[in-house]
Amino acid sequence: MIVIMQHGAAEPVIDHVIERIVQLGLTPHVSRGQFRTIIGAIGDKQPVHQQILEALEGVERVVPIMKPYKLASREFHDENSTVNVGGVPVGGKDLVIMAGPCAVESKEMLARIAAFCKAGGAAILRGGAFKPRTSPYDFQGLGVEGLEYLRSVGDDLKMPIVSEVMAANEVELVGRYVDMFQIGARNAQNFQLLKEVGDTGKPVLLKRGLAMTIREYLMSAEYVLARGNRNLVLCERGIKTFETEVRFTFDVSCIPVIKNYCHLPIIVDPSHAAGKREYVSALARAGIAAGADGIIVECHDRPEEALCDGPQALLPEMFFELVGQLKKIGEVFGRGMAEPKT
Ligand code: PEP
Ligand code: MN
Repeated sequence: MIVIMQHGAAEPVIDHVIERIVQLGLTPHVSRGQFRTIIGAIGDKQPVHQQILEALEGVERVVPIMKPYKLASREFHDENSTVNVGGVPVGGKDLVIMAGPCAVESKEMLARIAAFCKAGGAAILRGGAFKPRTSPYDFQGLGVEGLEYLRSVGDDLKMPIVSEVMAANEVELVGRYVDMFQIGARNAQNFQLLKEVGDTGKPVLLKRGLAMTIREYLMSAEYVLARGNRNLVLCERGIKTFETEVRFTFDVSCIPVIKNYCHLPIIVDPSHAAGKREYVSALARAGIAAGADGIIVECHDRPEEALCDGPQALLPEMFFELVGQLKKIGEVFGRGMAEPKT
């Protein structure tokens, strides 16, 4: 349930309510809105709790949260959330471009690609060091070496970095390098991993699972939020359908639906949905037009040499053109574009 405090309730009054929530064996989650404070009291089973809390000083009313994803829902937090990724706000007024290669293959290659991505308008650098591959015989990523290259190239170019963590026992290691953890589609229901990144408090990019409903997806988001980590960004990257012309089916409809129910930022990954570079830009444009807060896109200047996902990588010129188009689409909604740091 949520405890809605009276307008202007003083801090000691709010603290007292939080104390009582803890005493009742519930977990408090505080959401400070522009006008009033709302306190989520998670774990309640008894209606009697509602009456106890309602009687406290400073409480306006206590209402149950109807959605199963309590902290992700707009019932708990009405305003859009913004997540700060190494100084770049995601989910605010400005659209954010995250770009880079699918996998980090060498330092030189990463530096080259990152440079053109930044020049084209990417504020955040992506790149996989630990790669989830369908075949165990395919390139699995450079691991820690890849993370070191990412950190170094990211620092040189003043680009925060996002990279995938695949296992709960590698969260500490990956967390030493990245500004944002990526949870891949194949791990979107790895609950232990979600709890572990939730405990770090560091920004998390949670991809939608390959065959996940929106409700299941938001329940996965809830795992991270329930550990007290509000720095969560969602990402639609295509789901499995019977269609075979594209790698996955880009579910553009999930963007307005998720925006309706949930306060978290959501970006789109047109690369893994399309699977082919000629379709990537159209999906990215559709995602931004549908209300997404940004994109994460794979780019490469020599895709024929790529060890992973070369066919879907945007060439530099395509990337530059796309960013220009996204800027114009953003303007329709009064949104700007997060500028790369200088
Ligand atoms: C990726 O971003 O390179 C990736 C593997 O994405 P997904 O988990 O969405 O397939
Ligand atoms: Mn990829």
